Amino acid sequence: MCLFCKIANNELTANKVHENDDFVAFHDINPKAPVHVLAIPKTHVDSFNEVTPEMMADMTAFIQEVAEKVDVKESGYRVITNVGENGGQEVKHLHFHILGGARLRWGHF
Ligand code: 5GP
Ligand code: ZN
Repeated sequence: MCLFCKIANNELTANKVHENDDFVAFHDINPKAPVHVLAIPKTHVDSFNEVTPEMMADMTAFIQEVAEKVDVKESGYRVITNVGENGGQEVKHLHFHILGGARLRWGHF
């Protein structure tokens, strides 16, 4: 079972901020912004390449709820999902980074 499946199944602890039957959001262990939360589906999906439009519809609503819960919805935030080698995806379980709490820099490779 992959790392994020273990977090979804409560086999590994994480600092959760929001959860429902299908998704869970928790603080990133190595934050890259004052607010850095990861939102994942509880069922294993390798990456954005494999997610269905149906799951994304619910994921979108969940991410919007997370943004509200961690109080970045009004001040602004960034949603990122890294895909594959060039995207820099390290954990092979679909996750959306929700970053905020400060003015974020943009544009580097
Ligand atoms: P990726 O590079 O795959 O888009 O992002 C993976 C993210 O997962 C990284 O930001 C990393 O800090 C975070 N991460 C890796 N392992 C753990 C863990 O065990 N717990 C938590 N909360 N975050 C993790
Ligand atoms: Zn998984």
